[in-house]
Amino acid sequence: MIAHVDSNLPLEACGLLAGSGSRVESVLMVKNQAQSPVRYVMDPIEQLNAFEWIDSHGLDILGIFHSHPTGPETVSPTDIAESAYEVVHVILSHADGTWRARGFRIEDNTYREVTLITSNQP
Ligand SMILES: [Zn+2]
Repeated sequence: MIAHVDSNLPLEACGLLAGSGSRVESVLMVKNQAQSPVRYVMDPIEQLNAFEWIDSHGLDILGIFHSHPTGPETVSPTDIAESAYEVVHVILSHADGTWRARGFRIEDNTYREVTLITSNQP
């Protein structure tokens, strides 16, 4: 995930997190159709392919991740306005030269942070 968002700098990058229960088992990269440093739009074909892959592997979509190459660490008003799925939104921010990951749920036009537990840290 970090390698993907890092290789897309200075553009925002995005993708899907799939797994079962609350455990992520697969990270799927999706092209940012917007090709913008400040917003993302998942490429619809790649997104559909990713959904089908997740489904065919018996997994659920647990989250959407995208990067904020220049911050903020939290979801932006645009993210809230464009949020279409009831999943965890992982924001990878790069405001101070290192990547930081935080998770949020977007509900009722606001957000709350959820705790991300990572294993296999590089
Ligand atoms: Zn965002």
